[in-house]
Amino acid sequence: TYVVTDNCINCKYTDCVEVCPVDCFYEGENMLVIHPDECIDCGVCEPECPADAIRPDTEPDMENWVDFNRKYSEMW
Ligand code: SF4
Repeated sequence: TYVVTDNCINCKYTDCVEVCPVDCFYEGENMLVIHPDECIDCGVCEPECPADAIRPDTEPDMENWVDFNRKYSEMW
């Protein structure tokens, strides 16, 4: 899965949301999040993010971000 990280905080861009083929972005408190079970790992959103906030969970130490994205995408 891909996850949204802290560079997204207070970001006003939604380029990522517009390109996602499965609509798995959700609004968190002050940033967007990706539902880890709905993301199909296509990677289309990553280069669209002007804040470089979207990372693959295959990078080191992403477990907390996966949990965070899951929590806020299931909150509302
Ligand atoms: Fe959506 Fe693809 Fe980005 Fe996952 S990797 S959030 S499916 S655009």
